[in-house]
Amino acid sequence: MENLHHIVVVGGGAGGLELVTRLGNKLGKKHKARISLVDAGLTHIWKPLLHEVAAGSLDASTNEINYRAHARKHHFEFQLGRLSDLDRRNKAIVIAPFLDEEGREVVPERRIQYDTLVIAIGSTANDFGTPGAQEHCLFLDSLKQARRFHNLMLNAFLRTNHESLQGHSHQLNISIIGAGATGVELAAELRLASRELPVYGMNHLQASDVSITVIEAAERILPALPERLSVAATRELERQNVVVLTGQPVSEIRKDSLLMKDGTELPSEMTIWAAGIKAPPFLAKLDGLEANRTNQLVVQQTLQTTLDANIFAFGDCAACPQPGSDHPVPPRAQAAHQQADALFKTLRNRLQGKAPVPFVYNDHGSLINFSRYTTVGNLMGNLSGRSMYIEGKVARLFYASLYRMHQVALHGFLRTGVIWLMDKISRAMHPRLKMH
Ligand SMILES: Cc1cc2nc3c(=O)[nH]c(=O)nc-3n(C[C@H](O)[C@H](O)[C@H](O)COP(=O)(O)OP(=O)(O)OC[C@H]3O[C@@H](n4cnc5c(N)ncnc54)[C@H](O)[C@@H]3O)c2cc1C
Repeated sequence: MENLHHIVVVGGGAGGLELVTRLGNKLGKKHKARISLVDAGLTHIWKPLLHEVAAGSLDASTNEINYRAHARKHHFEFQLGRLSDLDRRNKAIVIAPFLDEEGREVVPERRIQYDTLVIAIGSTANDFGTPGAQEHCLFLDSLKQARRFHNLMLNAFLRTNHESLQGHSHQLNISIIGAGATGVELAAELRLASRELPVYGMNHLQASDVSITVIEAAERILPALPERLSVAATRELERQNVVVLTGQPVSEIRKDSLLMKDGTELPSEMTIWAAGIKAPPFLAKLDGLEANRTNQLVVQQTLQTTLDANIFAFGDCAACPQPGSDHPVPPRAQAAHQQADALFKTLRNRLQGKAPVPFVYNDHGSLINFSRYTTVGNLMGNLSGRSMYIEGKVARLFYASLYRMHQVALHGFLRTGVIWLMDKISRAMHPRLKMH
């Protein structure tokens, strides 16, 4: 074990867990390399599910993967801890002390030696320094935040139900800042929750008591996607009685309201920030590695960091160039999935002294899911490069397939089939909404 090449992957998210699973199965199992995963949490959940967890349409516990159990099955080691620093000269990473919920130290700061290091620690919301955002907004960057949101939402709905029962009409105002895919999908999930909860006992709550507003600074929602999708998504949101405000930058967030750039103030008891992302700030000072304005580590097309060929970065925390484009690879689960695949080949080649594989992003299109209502999207033709608009059940099938692909990468086809079947049974047996 001592002499084996040690590949350390930091971050077991959409990309990192796929990579380390494959490395473990192919290299760890045959003792061709020692494979380690370091993650700040004990369990993995696929991040694009977080808005469903927040709204209660998905029970996270049935979709969580325990890293230790997964590591044992797939021949890699797991270390719980948060990457805090890097010592490139001695090829070691520094893991911050691990504290329990009361702030007591469980494990002190430690160092882990590597031969090859892969950083895949994702991103967090970018509030662009907007006053009041950190104090008054809710974020959806982690399972903990999604669960907190869910509890606050249930309490807000319960309060509205109670006030209505007392004969006081009360309008619950929920605002979502940012109308990218996350903001738009969250709005639809919240609308579904406001319609479902009366069925489960909050019978004085009416969907019309819950006002949901999506606010976008750009002139149209889904600004990064084709205009046709924005038009279809706006139509769908308005059909769900979601207010869509575009061309309206928010300048300040207050306890129960939002101040818009034009001076108007909107009441908002729950405000969710879903506008833009940035990589964790400490990456910008990580032992001299090159980072961009949003703290992403700048990498070459091989996913190697520009200043250290033994350190790779991918997924949301990396800025990877795309040939023929001024924009780096977009921060999406689809990209992290493809990069994990390319990086697996590169790391396998590396052990055999062969050249790395350049990564080329293949955009398969974008799909926006409006909870159980509908799905809209565009699929890219691989050869023609032209996109095809789809909606309804077919679009929903493609949308669901992205998560199933992630599950196949982690569990293989057979187990994913069994999980799919269990999901179906579980959905039939449990309430449509998580209420605790
Ligand atoms: C609500 C929501 C909906 C989304 N929907 C879609 C969608 O429909 N389609 C799509 O393509 N993309 C979607 N995305 C974006 C997608 O989730 C990300 O692009 C993708 O998860 C990035 O993968 P990653 O592996 O880079 O990082 P993540 O999946 O974010 O994983 C990062 C991992 O690193 C760990 N970590 C963080 N910091 C440290 C540290 N210092 N030390 C150790 N470990 C650390 C975290 O615990 C986590 O396990 C959505 C995102 C959100 C928030």
